[in-house]
Amino acid sequence: MSANRPVRPGQGCLWCNQLIDATALAKEAKTDAERKAQGYGVEEPNPSVISLNAISAAHAVNDFLLDYLSLRTESDPLHYEHYHFLAGTRSLVQPRRDGDCPECSRSGPRFGRGDSVSLPCIEG
Ligand SMILES: [Zn+2]
Repeated sequence: MSANRPVRPGQGCLWCNQLIDATALAKEAKTDAERKAQGYGVEEPNPSVISLNAISAAHAVNDFLLDYLSLRTESDPLHYEHYHFLAGTRSLVQPRRDGDCPECSRSGPRFGRGDSVSLPCIEG
């Protein structure tokens, strides 16, 4: 399966839709040695299929261009698209929007702060 999940202001985010693994995010904040020590050598990377990734990337670029050039109205419905290549189908999924989301809600600590808040990453 390949997925296209556009994110726009006020439409919910990947955190709202439970698409961010908090454990994986915590690992991103560790050094390579800390990650290896914590993984006990049992973690293998997930396989990635370049042709499936290309579909998602192409849709993401199209979405960016349409939004950047204002060729799509704000009132157009926002959907996640899931492409099921073995079945030859595409499904539209209505994304969730959590009014109390710590990442994208107006009451959250990060809303509208842009680069003034550091990401939880190791400086490289
Ligand atoms: Zn959110």
